[in-house]
Amino acid sequence: MKVSFYTLGCKVNLYETEVVMSKFKNKGYEIVDFSDKADIVVINTCTVTNTSDKKSRNIIRQAVKNNPDAIIIVMGCYTQVRSEDIKNIDGVNIIIGNTNKSKIVELVEEYIKTKENKVLVENIMNTSFESMTIDSFETKTRAFVKIQDGCNNYCAYCIIPYARGNIRSKEKEDVIKEVNYLVENGYKEVVLTGIHTGHYGKERYDYDFSDLLNELCKIDNLLRLRISSIEITELDDKFLETLKNNKKIVDHLHIPLQSGCDKTLKEMNRKYDTSYYINKINKIRKIRKDISITTDLIVGFPNETDEDFNKTYNFIKKVNFSKIHVFPYSRRKNTKADLMENQVPENIKKERVKKILELSKELELNYMKQFLNKELEILVEKCEDNIVFGHTPNYIGVKGKGTIKDVNKIITVRPKRIEYPIMEEIE
Ligand code: SF4
Repeated sequence: MKVSFYTLGCKVNLYETEVVMSKFKNKGYEIVDFSDKADIVVINTCTVTNTSDKKSRNIIRQAVKNNPDAIIIVMGCYTQVRSEDIKNIDGVNIIIGNTNKSKIVELVEEYIKTKENKVLVENIMNTSFESMTIDSFETKTRAFVKIQDGCNNYCAYCIIPYARGNIRSKEKEDVIKEVNYLVENGYKEVVLTGIHTGHYGKERYDYDFSDLLNELCKIDNLLRLRISSIEITELDDKFLETLKNNKKIVDHLHIPLQSGCDKTLKEMNRKYDTSYYINKINKIRKIRKDISITTDLIVGFPNETDEDFNKTYNFIKKVNFSKIHVFPYSRRKNTKADLMENQVPENIKKERVKKILELSKELELNYMKQFLNKELEILVEKCEDNIVFGHTPNYIGVKGKGTIKDVNKIITVRPKRIEYPIMEEIE
């Protein structure tokens, strides 16, 4: 039988789709493209904004329309918080939330026997880490490993704690085994992901994220270790020491800021202010001078005035991020911010997004310029007509001269120009 997949949202969702995909593969199912006809379609949804909900619904409808006889399975964050929305879409056969993803093949096989639709959305507020491991990915250079799930922070705007549940971590032995396995299978770079990656181990162990990083860095043929995202409050002295001592941890940290205005940060229920944030950034840059620091930002949070937005704009310049992922604030039911007065009109949010995107491009170009005509190392992902492409440790995409033999190797390039959003060695 043929199975197709569609994933919306973050790296954690991508990882979980890959796990489900490999379970189908191991049972002899054939994996096909989402655009091809399939007997089974799996959609992994996202609910971080209203747009994600809408996109999830559209994809489900598209899957049902293109595959009228297929078994349609919908899972993920949107189903976890709003399963009634999915039940209202005709043609969906199995609905699960953010638990039981690793049991999908069994659920499908049961459905084939009984032909009974199933909704399996459990309370996620007090659950343990669902054991999942992965043995291969589409590309053979960079692998993702989910080490943590859930969030207890309850930022005023965020639905994720309700969709992902309490904080929980993968057993350290399982993480180390999984990374070792991936490295033995040729992967040179591993990206650690989670909803709150830096919170790894905090709820259970006398063993935290820095301990895990130190241990993973000892794996011989693992050349690069990347952290998908880390909160500023998790950059304690132990982490900074770990960063200083382990060159395998790449020169790139994604540290969500969300707002550069202290009043807004407080109303968002973020656990820091701008002076705390900049102090930590300065400490990081003392250890890693050229590190790329990227961030997430929300504009148009309730009560955000022009003056507040200008504070954010100026703070971004001061931090000198190398890229900003900006999102207009999106109201999510059952969150504190949804009930706040002074919601910002959509046209103002749009204008603010535009301004931040322009600033982000300017800062990104400035960051890239300092690497022109310098020797950089890229991990080669692909090669076409003796032109290779890969990313530097600080995640700049570079096209360089090379051969097919360089794929999945680290080579040195010297970019001569910027062809935004990448750099090129070829003149
Ligand atoms: S830290 Fe805040 S923004 Fe991040 S997932 Fe948790 S509640 Fe959401």
